Amino acid sequence: MRKYKPSALGASTIVEAKRLLDSGLSKSYVMRNLRIGQGSVNRIAAGTLTAKEATPVRCPGCGGLLEVTPCIACETRTLVAA
Ligand SMILES: [Zn+2]
Repeated sequence: MRKYKPSALGASTIVEAKRLLDSGLSKSYVMRNLRIGQGSVNRIAAGTLTAKEATPVRCPGCGGLLEVTPCIACETRTLVAA
């Protein structure tokens, strides 16, 4: 028996969705563009789903768990190396 499990939203997706909603774009636009479900969009719009509750994303650079992308640690390292 298989149960459909929607893909978890990354923090960056939630932040982006919030930004689009705040800039006046419709929920359906955000759903289509970020490929997220209506329930998620409604929760983001209502403020009950925030980046803090997002599934952490693993950084491809350092392997750390990220709450925001791009990884601040890797970005800093790039700046220092430059
Ligand atoms: Zn990193």
